[in-house]
Amino acid sequence: MTGLSHRRVLTHINALLDEALDPVEADAIKQHLQTCPACAAEVETWSRLRAAVKHAYAPAPAPPDLVIRVRAELRRLGEETGAAA
Ligand SMILES: [Zn+2]
Repeated sequence: MTGLSHRRVLTHINALLDEALDPVEADAIKQHLQTCPACAAEVETWSRLRAAVKHAYAPAPAPPDLVIRVRAELRRLGEETGAAA
């Protein structure tokens, strides 16, 4: 055991996956994961979940004429309301 509680590991999963932990803490957690299949499985689950979410919400490339269409729409709206677009 490394002295880290499961709870401490679990509350740091996202920071760990974001690589936002300080190196000492990250090492301690990684050591815990090597000796704790339960926490390792939890991290694996989170890692997959995050990958899936990231994939699902990956921004689609903007169509090349988007700026032109937005400007045209703004102009149209400006003409409708009488405001300068
Ligand atoms: Zn654990």
